[in-house]
Amino acid sequence: MTRTKPLPVLHIYTRVSTAAQEDKGTSLASQEKLGHERAKALGFDARVWNEGGKSSNHEDISGRPVLQALVNEVMSGDAKHIFVYDQSRLSRNDNVASLIRYQCKKHGVTLYTKDGTYDFTNASDTLMKQILDAMAEFDNAGRAERTRLGKLHRVKQNQWHGGPPPFGYRLDSKKLVVEKAEATKVKEIYQRYASGESTHGIKKFLDKSGVLPRRGGTWTLGSILKILENTHYVGYYTYRDKKSDEQFRVECNPIVPAAIWQAAQEKRKAILERKGQVNRTKHFYLLRDLMYCGFCNAPLGARTKPAKNEHFYYCPMKERNWRDGVEPRMKHSKKDGCGFARSMNIEQADRLVWDVVVDIHSKSSLLKEEVKKRLVGGIVSPDSGYEATQKKNEKSIKLAEKELQRADEAIAELEVEHRLGQTDAKLYPQIMKRLREQRTAVQARIETLREGVRNQAQERKWVDWVRAFGDEVKLKSKLTPEERKEYLRGMIERIDVKYLADTKEHQLEIRFVKPIVGDGRIPQQPKGYKLKKGSASKLIALPMRGPPGKRLTPVGNNSVTVE
Ligand SMILES: [Zn+2]
Repeated sequence: MTRTKPLPVLHIYTRVSTAAQEDKGTSLASQEKLGHERAKALGFDARVWNEGGKSSNHEDISGRPVLQALVNEVMSGDAKHIFVYDQSRLSRNDNVASLIRYQCKKHGVTLYTKDGTYDFTNASDTLMKQILDAMAEFDNAGRAERTRLGKLHRVKQNQWHGGPPPFGYRLDSKKLVVEKAEATKVKEIYQRYASGESTHGIKKFLDKSGVLPRRGGTWTLGSILKILENTHYVGYYTYRDKKSDEQFRVECNPIVPAAIWQAAQEKRKAILERKGQVNRTKHFYLLRDLMYCGFCNAPLGARTKPAKNEHFYYCPMKERNWRDGVEPRMKHSKKDGCGFARSMNIEQADRLVWDVVVDIHSKSSLLKEEVKKRLVGGIVSPDSGYEATQKKNEKSIKLAEKELQRADEAIAELEVEHRLGQTDAKLYPQIMKRLREQRTAVQARIETLREGVRNQAQERKWVDWVRAFGDEVKLKSKLTPEERKEYLRGMIERIDVKYLADTKEHQLEIRFVKPIVGDGRIPQQPKGYKLKKGSASKLIALPMRGPPGKRLTPVGNNSVTVE
């Protein structure tokens, strides 16, 4: 009797992932041998598919041509029986493995491994679910990719990429346009924030003003902070494509003057440095926002827990190192953590700094001169002039930024042409050099302009401070805690604090914004005087008296609980 049907074929797929496997009885030859033995036992013919050695970073099926060919065979219904040493031979990549299993099930393939038989047609519910999940994931990936390309396309056309537009804007022909009523509030939020108002205060103002947040209800601090970090309001935003990590700058209509936006960012940054403290704190601290650890430069923290008798300024780095028990990052001390070994009593520090600063103020000729010049003499840059200059500078910055963008485009184009071999070998380096020089020059111009805007804003801040606090007579009247803080903030850049173990005292270096420590007047002949600059820093010491946590007599109202 002759056989009418050919024998079924067992397709033996072999692969080693590393050369090391050759030693472990899983060599290509031994895999093949096991396959042949299985075929013989089944009474099948055998065909070997040898992938050879592919490292694990070739898990993608496209990097495995033999497997791909075998899967094609499965998909065309020609391969019904596959032998692999173990399932991981097929793929360690979940997606690829699921795809293979899916195809195997669909075409009724039986998988044989050294450990037994795997019939895909009888796949358990668990496996089925696993496969379906993986297929769904495949679908999602495709959909996500389409969405991504759509967004990129819109971004490249200066269109809004999708989702609701930021507060202050609405969409018109897929582009952001200013929404007047909201934009007015955005401007006001920035102005208030930049001039020192807290987000709490702004929330109160917004809730009273009748302007609703996008999602309705009342304003949250989070949504106000979100508004304060948007770059849209100064005329651009950056769209980042997560997959390629490419960034695109998209222009839009500005709402807030750049100087005010910048001032808000600086304030926000200062607060962010203390992240986790600002929101947590319930107490008012006169100096905390000005003080830094003299050892590790971390912003100092403050703690008030009456029940535990805690009331002190401290270095959080010290605490963190101690708490985590990890190797300290800064080695300034033989002991753990940074050298800020003892915390500092809040009342003592507040009182000392306040007294010293007010004393320096009262003795400063430079400050008196400023007051005379700015307030009595009326030499204050008029507000309208300030706004106009800042606006003009911002416009110049914008123009220069466009120029920079054009320079970048020209460089990129030349680079592409060069790679395509479309440039003159001699001319190319010269042109490229010229373009790069031009780009550097534009960038330098932008830096200078930005610096100008910053300086102007700082000058303005100083003038405002002189107006509010320059006249020391005002200091003798009763200031609120917030006003005291505002006074110090205008006068002091920062205070660096160290604990000196040998003398058991805290050393505070107060750095003033102007050189007013020990300044003076030098009489001139025949009349008048010349100002002599002083130092911008003052070193003071605060001896430890008793435990740092002990509450002493409060100074002024500086331990008032604020919202
Ligand atoms: Zn420290």
